[in-house]
Amino acid sequence: MLTPYLTKIKIHQTRPLFSNLLRKDFSTQKTLPHIVIEVPGSGQGRDCPNRCESCVSDLTKAYGLVDNVFLFRKTKFPTNERLKQGLKKRLSWLCGIGCQHVILTGCGSDPILNRKYLELFDQVNQSLQRPFTNIDIQTSGICINEKKLEFLKSIGVNVFSLSLFSLLDHLNAKIMHTPPSLQYPIKDVCQTIKNSGVDLRISLNVNSVGFSPNIPKMVEQSLSLGAQQITFRKLYSEPHNKSPQNQWIQKFEMNDRFWENLLDYFAQNAKKLNNNPFSQFFHYKNTSFLVDQNCMNKLEKKNKYFILRKNGKIYTQWDDTNSLIF
Ligand code: SF4
Repeated sequence: MLTPYLTKIKIHQTRPLFSNLLRKDFSTQKTLPHIVIEVPGSGQGRDCPNRCESCVSDLTKAYGLVDNVFLFRKTKFPTNERLKQGLKKRLSWLCGIGCQHVILTGCGSDPILNRKYLELFDQVNQSLQRPFTNIDIQTSGICINEKKLEFLKSIGVNVFSLSLFSLLDHLNAKIMHTPPSLQYPIKDVCQTIKNSGVDLRISLNVNSVGFSPNIPKMVEQSLSLGAQQITFRKLYSEPHNKSPQNQWIQKFEMNDRFWENLLDYFAQNAKKLNNNPFSQFFHYKNTSFLVDQNCMNKLEKKNKYFILRKNGKIYTQWDDTNSLIF
């Protein structure tokens, strides 16, 4: 699996930033990073109907990393050949170095709300020599219906990752500040997703407002939704970030004891699967559990993601322009 990396390193060694990254990180990495594609909002600026207390788009807004440079807003679909060509070039490169797994996520909005961008991604993907087929989408769960699921399946989405702040409908909606007309019963949405034939992943954004620290109860309640995969995600915060989102996370994050107890619980009750260097995987009651304490890839030297940001360029870090590849 390392051969494609080494081949590419030689090709691109004239670019100092790029080659340093490759030498430093990718050349020794056996597990291929995922590709995270930021799907922007369909309007101007932030247009998500939610206002999640821990919204990472708001939390990292201060960096201004890629604002105001996104190409497709300046012209109409599908005439923006420039964006298409840029995406194609970068996706081809990612395919060429062996990446296989694409995650569609939101940037200032829920990704399922920007159908035109998803169609554009699909056009570009299908134009690749070897289109990506392992595609997830991460969503807050609003506006999901059968029609939307059919569309997402048609562009190759296989896994629907539903991000929850609580397993209780009212608390989940409250923490996301979802407008009343878009609030949904979690169980029904999970059933609709499962009926459509795509796999369901529940991603629990662990916080002390939406969840009690009773681990066996939390595990059993999450199992009752019938997902194939369940992730316990530690929310990302920064020591000096003054944003309300960062402060909310620092106030309501579960303490270290919770995470130790969670790992102990799985160690005692589940089968451990050691197939991922970034997170801890377990198999319990016919369901895959993942404990992810490093969702922003800040603790590892290895690269967990290539991030195709909304300016159409590839980075390895969400908050650092120096992580630009090209
Ligand atoms: S759904 Fe996503 S973009 Fe919208 S507020 Fe929540 S975290 Fe932010």
